[in-house]
Amino acid sequence: MTTFLAGGTGTPKLLWGSNEVFDPAETTVIANTGDDVFVGGSCVCPDLDTVLYSQADELDRERWWGVADDSTETHDELLARSAAAGFEAGPRYLPPEKQTDGRDLARWRRFSSIGEFMLLGDRDRAVHTLRTSLLDEGCSLTEVTERLSRAFSLDIDLLPMSDDPVASMIHTPSGAMHFQEFWVARGGEPEVTDVEFRGGENAETTDEVDEALSEPVVIGPSNPVTSIGPMLAVPSFAEALADTPVVAVSPFVGERVFSGPAAKLMRAVGEEASTVGVAASYGFADAFVFDEEDDTRLDRPVVRTDTEMSTREDAARVARAACEALDRVT
Ligand code: GDP
Repeated sequence: MTTFLAGGTGTPKLLWGSNEVFDPAETTVIANTGDDVFVGGSCVCPDLDTVLYSQADELDRERWWGVADDSTETHDELLARSAAAGFEAGPRYLPPEKQTDGRDLARWRRFSSIGEFMLLGDRDRAVHTLRTSLLDEGCSLTEVTERLSRAFSLDIDLLPMSDDPVASMIHTPSGAMHFQEFWVARGGEPEVTDVEFRGGENAETTDEVDEALSEPVVIGPSNPVTSIGPMLAVPSFAEALADTPVVAVSPFVGERVFSGPAAKLMRAVGEEASTVGVAASYGFADAFVFDEEDDTRLDRPVVRTDTEMSTREDAARVARAACEALDRVT
């Protein structure tokens, strides 16, 4: 059995080709939920969904989020009607007292659908509606994810990192905002002074996550701060990683990042924006996969390959390197 830890791009890319190396029936993927938001009352779980859609071969692989060839009629209509009613497009949090009202899972990330700030496709939205309806019926996020995995005929087991709320909050000189406001609405532009995983220290792992973390773990090349950081903020999650073999694939080649805000966020939390910083963030990791052009030296085992993943074959190559690294430490 092998367990992968996933954000919404780096690890899902690796999983694209991993089934040639790791038997899907023996693979569990734990996805980050710190990026999740409630928009118009609907629960959007971007990282869980990217794994769902990519494993079902329905992902938009240009953007690495959303359903391929999705329409956006509901989103467009929401924006048009909001504008006609005199509201500008952009993130609108529900009032502070509402952020901790009602359903716990939605804490600190409740947005209205007025001027809907995230582009949600119509077929994508149907998944969020199903998920929210099942939560309303009393299912946990783990149970909902199991149902959705069945709906998408997944071969792997997919789990949320926790059934408790953890919200990735980006602190800027003008105040804190949810990661999705920082990244989607503001294009990652604001200066970042700190990153907080609100709720993390009180969150718990589920029995399913505890079991998965008793197996060898592969951390794909996801963002160490906002994709893996929320998991490490849950005390029992971090403790479990310390006790099991862990291999991590670097999302950097030396100081170059493939995509996204990882470099800026690493600096904001006091880490080097490089492979050296990744290794420092993962003190519990037993071995690494680095790019063959990355000359970083470490005192832990390193397997080197071309880590750029543009095709399924690329992903299979990186998965083979991760398997080789695991073999060295198990
Ligand atoms: P997010 O939830 O969309 O931020 O996605 P992740 O955290 O899962 O992944 C973001 C990270 O993926 C970035 O730091 C990128 O450097 C890394 N990444 C994207 N494409 C590749 C690739 O082809 N190879 C490697 N090694 N890393 C990649």
